[in-house]
Amino acid sequence: HLSERLLKVAAYVPQAARLADIGSDHAYLPAYLALNKRISYAVAGEIVKGPYLNTLHEIENEGLTKLVQVRHADGLAAIEDHDQIDTITICGMGGPLIKKILEDGKDKLQAHPKLILQPNVGAPQLRRWLGANGYQLIAEEILEEDQHIYEILVAQYQPEQVLLDELDYEFGPFLRREQSAPFLKKWQAEAFKIKRVLQQLKKAKEFPVEQQQRMQQKIKQIEGVLNDQS
Ligand code: SAM
Repeated sequence: HLSERLLKVAAYVPQAARLADIGSDHAYLPAYLALNKRISYAVAGEIVKGPYLNTLHEIENEGLTKLVQVRHADGLAAIEDHDQIDTITICGMGGPLIKKILEDGKDKLQAHPKLILQPNVGAPQLRRWLGANGYQLIAEEILEEDQHIYEILVAQYQPEQVLLDELDYEFGPFLRREQSAPFLKKWQAEAFKIKRVLQQLKKAKEFPVEQQQRMQQKIKQIEGVLNDQS
């Protein structure tokens, strides 16, 4: 019963990985990977008691307690040195929260694990955090499922990075060149939303010029990316 979203995430987990899945909730991702013999070990971390118990039950029910350690912990605190984690997945949360978990847990990133992140919103600031911390994006996915559009960012530590520009951070270096259907849908909807707000605000008495210009620039930037045939 793995969603298409988590199946795509799973596809980026290297064979025989030692995985930490943070914010695991039902542990569907590590359970699927363990049952399919795709990982050699996993830690499933959960901060909230209810989801932590869900995770624990799932792993017990599937008979995976030897392979998957369930830990009640905040973010990367779930990871211990002896786990020798080489891959971290953090999925189904907002970009700012994923960024905070990575920032607060920097000491757990010293072995430079591969990061597979699935922010529900706020991917740009996560891309910026990766770039500022020696991580290079090596792949991106965008998909639509149950009326939501999800992005997946895959990054590996690579201090000598290919530099990204502003449009890469905002739209995704791979996604903006690929121009897939969900990508176009997402950004067309975003441009439409800003245009509508702009129209509403123009009717208001006070509408600072700078704010208006910022919104117009954003619309122009989006339309530029959507029309970019290069
Ligand atoms: N990763 C699963 C997925 O993608 O389907 C579950 C996503 S669920 C919406 C997000 C989970 O992250 C929640 O169960 C929440 O309790 C957990 N969470 C939020 N902040 C966390 C933190 N700092 N450390 C560990 N888990 C956290």
